[in-house]
Amino acid sequence: MDGSTLARLKDRIKNSKRVCAFTGAGISAESGIPTFRDAGGLWENYNVEDLVTPEAFERDPAVVWRWHIWLQGLAFNAQPNAAHKTLANMDSLFPEFLVITQNIDDLHERAGTRRMVKLHGDIMEILCLEDGHVCRVTSPMDSSNIGPDALPTCPKCGGAARPNVVWFGEMLPVEPLAEGSEFARRCDLLFIIGTSGAVSGGYGFAESAKRGGACIVEINPEESALTYLADISIRKPAAAAMPELFTP
Ligand code: NAD
Repeated sequence: MDGSTLARLKDRIKNSKRVCAFTGAGISAESGIPTFRDAGGLWENYNVEDLVTPEAFERDPAVVWRWHIWLQGLAFNAQPNAAHKTLANMDSLFPEFLVITQNIDDLHERAGTRRMVKLHGDIMEILCLEDGHVCRVTSPMDSSNIGPDALPTCPKCGGAARPNVVWFGEMLPVEPLAEGSEFARRCDLLFIIGTSGAVSGGYGFAESAKRGGACIVEINPEESALTYLADISIRKPAAAAMPELFTP
């Protein structure tokens, strides 16, 4: 991005009242949580995307649980980076602000973001398959004894349970989706940070923001399926790019 584009963007930021940030796995990459593509290395006998489907859970719940608990450990030990912190500061800079995240880690919350919707659930939550109750674990679960006949259960009632995350092929939760869609439709400025758009391209936030006249800024070292909608593309890692936008 050249100096005049940066100046134009800073001016736009200053004059925006309703600002939205749509985030994906890439924003947490510099905190040490790999994106699904990068995570393949550690789980090289598996295609990660095959571990996050209802069919995989049906087929081999033990391996799906072990993968999710591995991710709990990564998320628990990770720290918010400069991009999460910049978004947390933006929370108090604009009259209206919303982070819409696809991430299942809690780095936005731990950085201090308050106004947020989570589209894909939370890796630290367990969903009871008997009554739909959700429990939160405060530290990573123990995966050492998990096997086909020894699966984690609901901490409250002991019933069958699963990670409370949205897997490929499942519906998004209705309320967060509606809140995110309504906000994005009428925002002045939308940041799209660290998402390939492979799945989220279908959610329509960027299209509706664009139709409503918002300026769209993409932050991603690589092109994505949403790049075609961006007015400005910043080809840098998020933790470097985000703070630069707010330095005087
Ligand atoms: P994705 O893996 O499809 O795409 C990641 C994107 O981030 C890529 O476009 C990549 O170029 C970009 N990227 C990589 N490093 C970056 C950086 N430092 N700064 C900015 N961008 C960077 O991720 P997605 O679009 O979020 O969708 C995949 C799914 O993965 C989501 O459902 C999400 O819940 C899940 N996921 C979440 C986490 C997490 O919670 N941290 C981690 C892995 C996967």
